[in-house]
Amino acid sequence: MAYETLIDWIKESKHIVFFGGAGVSTECGIPDFRSEKGIYRIRNEYGISPEEILSHSFFLKKPEIFYKYYKENMLFPNAVPSKAHQTLAYMESIGKLDCVVTQNIDALHQDAGSKKVYELHGSVRRNYCMKCGKFFPVETILEAEGVPRCDRCQGIIKPDVVLYEEPLDNDVFSNSLEAIMRADLLIIGGTSLNVYPAAGLIRYFSGDHLVLINLSETPYDRIADLVIHEKIGKVMQAVKAGLEA
Ligand code: NAD
Repeated sequence: MAYETLIDWIKESKHIVFFGGAGVSTECGIPDFRSEKGIYRIRNEYGISPEEILSHSFFLKKPEIFYKYYKENMLFPNAVPSKAHQTLAYMESIGKLDCVVTQNIDALHQDAGSKKVYELHGSVRRNYCMKCGKFFPVETILEAEGVPRCDRCQGIIKPDVVLYEEPLDNDVFSNSLEAIMRADLLIIGGTSLNVYPAAGLIRYFSGDHLVLINLSETPYDRIADLVIHEKIGKVMQAVKAGLEA
């Protein structure tokens, strides 16, 4: 019943936006932050919280520990897109999705074929020298021993991901905001809606239907028109079948 409602709303809507988070990629083997098996629940050998390790000041102070943690917990070079990523790319290809707004940094939406993806928290695939600005692919980070350094000027290379204490990119944020304000259907999936300012974006939605697909409850369940507490891969697979029928 819930699936049918969602499929009907997708069919009748003109401007659909998907807003997602780490739960979209857990089925690809990438752990999220706040689930049972999420990164925050795993006791780390460092005795420091992930928020502190993944902060701007910690990166500057102790880049070697940052990179050890980052490579162990944030880089998954062998992950491939899930049914959810694939369905979203399909929806865009048939004119049924304006864009994906994601908090994820894994670039799996693009791997699935999505073209318009606003990455609120950046991407592990982009990395740059803090001294001269030269760009590097993720392979440079994966292959480096210790702290990755620029081959041109020896500056420290930083992933183009938004660390705690850092602001979001203005253009990405305002493009996401505009898309959400224009949307008549907003589908939110795989996010605990705990990270701000990203989660605050959904307050600007004033379209017809707000749909939430998340395994656990979120602070926004009460205001959604449809809440589905199931795995997003399964839901989106059913959506694709419904759109193709
Ligand atoms: P989060 O860990 O706070 O919440 C993830 C939510 O997804 C949880 O509520 C969980 O119940 C739900 N979930 C997990 N698997 C699911 C599934 N298969 N189907 C449906 N729901 C599922 O993640 P968040 O809200 O995205 O915010 C945390 C931050 O984590 C973001 O800023 C993001 O940058 C970062 N992060 C990104 C990745 C990634 O790029 N894949 C991975 C971990 C963390």
